[in-house]
Amino acid sequence: THRSKVTVIGSGNWGSVAAKLIASNTLRLSSFHDEVRMWVYEETLRSGEQLTDVINRTNENVKYLPGIKLGKNVVADPDLESAVKDSNMLVFVTPHQFMEGICKRLVGKIREDSEAISLVKGMEHLGINCSVLMGANIANEIAVEKFSEATVGYRLNREVAERWVQLFYTHYFIVTAVQDVEGVELCGTLKNVVAIAAGFVDGLEMGNNTKAAIMRLGLREMKAFSKLLFPSVKDSTFFESCGVADLITTCLGGRNRKVAEAYARNGGKRSFDEVEAEMLQGQKLQGVSTASEVYEVLSHRGWLELFPLFSTVHEISTGLLPPSAIVEYSEKLPKSF
Ligand code: NAD
Ligand code: 13P
Repeated sequence: THRSKVTVIGSGNWGSVAAKLIASNTLRLSSFHDEVRMWVYEETLRSGEQLTDVINRTNENVKYLPGIKLGKNVVADPDLESAVKDSNMLVFVTPHQFMEGICKRLVGKIREDSEAISLVKGMEHLGINCSVLMGANIANEIAVEKFSEATVGYRLNREVAERWVQLFYTHYFIVTAVQDVEGVELCGTLKNVVAIAAGFVDGLEMGNNTKAAIMRLGLREMKAFSKLLFPSVKDSTFFESCGVADLITTCLGGRNRKVAEAYARNGGKRSFDEVEAEMLQGQKLQGVSTASEVYEVLSHRGWLELFPLFSTVHEISTGLLPPSAIVEYSEKLPKSF
């Protein structure tokens, strides 16, 4: 048969919601096999049970998405190789820091005709031939089927992009495809750095005008940085869900914002890792590591002064500057700002 078979690689907060969305569509659409495999990084729960067993028994990811049924056609699999071996549509959705190891383990193990899409927000894997899906998508809200939008970014093949749109699209999850894979991915990745800045502003109780200013300056840096790295990036991409909308929702309601707020309230005295582990219970932030990766690119290319917000976020989150520095660089801004 020519029906596509889907594997979701990752089973965190967003990974589980992605599996739920996809599973509702594979049941409904004849072009897909009903079953959706979900690779689970195995862990032992406090009850002593394996997470995979509990997901398969209860149809819920009790640790990362409690209270939500994933769909009976989602099958959790702790073995990465077996999870991908029959599938031709691979959905990558783990925290970015685990991607390199996972990709290495997959070399030579995936079907030759497989297509991939990344829902991961991070920089380093850019450049592989893969579509991306990004958007204003706080996982817990989509889990309870509140209306939102998302953007698929693709490189060349519109038909492949349409297949991804079909796989994710529901009446409460409106997906639009744009031919700008780098632009979509960089939007989703860079807005987390701005969300850290927004969290600092919240922790310092600076109010809405300041936060809006941070979002505006952040969006400008997102656009300038993306276009310097990839001149093909389109202006219109920043007006899609993956751009301004994801920036707004993450600065209002995301985990990066939440942890950065607590960090600033503590005056930067406890490390980000410590505050993250305590507040997120195993879920992961991406903004701090992205800020560090961006900083490396900026210093390497001599662009630090062009991106005061991005560089200041890194300097604050590593303890070099106090949280209040987030609004103290305005006199350094280049005239064009
Ligand atoms: P998460 O933040 O819930 O992270 C926990 C996941 O990491 C668990 O599945 C855990 O098993 C896994 N993990 C822990 N250690 C691991 C290891 N050594 N190897 C492999 N996996 C390991 O994850 P998430 O929310 O699904 O996020 C995945 C990606 O999607 C991230 O890049 C995130 O920024 C992005 N994203 C998240 C949301 C959201 O609202 N949660 C929304 C859009 C995009
Ligand atoms: P946080 O990781 O900050 O929660 O952002 C989630 C997200 O990427 C929404 O699209």
